[in-house]
Amino acid sequence: MVKKIALLGATGSIGSSALAVIREQALHFQATLFSAHTDWQKLLPLCREFKVLNAVFTGIEDPDLQAKLRRENPDIKLYFGEDELLQLLDGQDYDVALNAISGSAGLRASFAIVHRGARLALANKESLVMAGHLLMPLIAEQKVELLPVDSEHSAIFQAIGHHPNPEIRRLHITASGGSFRRLPLQDFELITPAQALRHPNWDMGAKVTLDSATMFNKALEVMEAHWLFGLPYSQIEAVIHPQSVIHSLVEFIDGSFLAQMGSPDMKLPILYAFSWPQRLPSQLVRTNLLELSPLEFEEIDPKRYPLYFLGLEVANAGGILPTVLNSANEAALKLFLEGRITFPQIRQICLEAVQSFDNQSNPDLDQILEANSSVYDRIISGRV
Ligand code: NDP
Ligand code: MG
Repeated sequence: MVKKIALLGATGSIGSSALAVIREQALHFQATLFSAHTDWQKLLPLCREFKVLNAVFTGIEDPDLQAKLRRENPDIKLYFGEDELLQLLDGQDYDVALNAISGSAGLRASFAIVHRGARLALANKESLVMAGHLLMPLIAEQKVELLPVDSEHSAIFQAIGHHPNPEIRRLHITASGGSFRRLPLQDFELITPAQALRHPNWDMGAKVTLDSATMFNKALEVMEAHWLFGLPYSQIEAVIHPQSVIHSLVEFIDGSFLAQMGSPDMKLPILYAFSWPQRLPSQLVRTNLLELSPLEFEEIDPKRYPLYFLGLEVANAGGILPTVLNSANEAALKLFLEGRITFPQIRQICLEAVQSFDNQSNPDLDQILEANSSVYDRIISGRV
């Protein structure tokens, strides 16, 4: 049976990898819905190539541009705005939705997919960071298949197999160390956006590349793992593994470790999230053992990566604070990219935002969305 795929964030880095998977596996997967924020120049040709008849632009608000695009593309049904995306996710025909929208903007789509009852292939880790306490019970209630796309979580998912949680001692999430693993600490003040946007191993979108440089990405991934696998934070650790060949490891109670490895390429976890429980033959990612460099592991240094440790504190505090921190980080990254703050100030802004917010346990979705936008707006407008 051909699986129908809704691809959210089709114009992004994960989106491109997913399209490469669908291209290779045309006998098994067929795209039926695409979303992008504003990049119509990229998305419309993709609609034609993949014969996708429904496309949503969540960020095109100009009515003249909407009318022009509709006029020039009568063969494609075009929709505009997040509400239309959520309605399509509710009503369209698809078996799997890959949520590869970047950042907190992907939150509501995850809920819509789960409500609809389709398989959720989740790249948007922010959905779990902000609302894992709401999303995971809903997933259980709806009996939805949740397949991690983040490479570390895909690795853990594969390594755990059918072993129940009491057999797991610890999860070890690997981190590349990002762009500045060897930069002298006194040079951090001088880091430019162009330097921070260069990742040593992975070719990814801007936000997740910057989050790798600060190691905030790993704090998000620890939270993501907590919700996905239902383990306490005391059993989840991150470790630097500069080669990014081992994508994560599970340590079992008998002392055995199982890891998943391969060249760092997101096509593999995406293919697995689409094909699970099967594996399909693919030539997209090849790994030559004889060409690998030695595999190393290092501890994460608090002086180099303070935002990771702030993230762990916030993870343990729970409630609304992970949303506050994630939102503060999104705003701080924007200020950094605009040249308005230095690299170390990203963490400073995050710290101040968390310290000035009264935590709230068990927030509902409206409270989460409200905190997300109010923290962001306050920081962007310079009120923090
Ligand atoms: P990109 O920045 O490359 O792409 C983001 C996609 O989301 C684009 O299609 C973009 O559309 C769309 N988008 C941007 N802003 C909004 C918005 N406000 N509302 C709706 N859609 C929006 O991101 P990545 O592909 O790198 O990452 C996507 C998600 O996957 C993130 O959550 C990231 O953490 C996660 N992830 C990414 C990995 C990677 O290797 N890239 C690895 C593991 C996880 P447009 O092009 O029109 O702006
Ligand atoms: Mg990852």
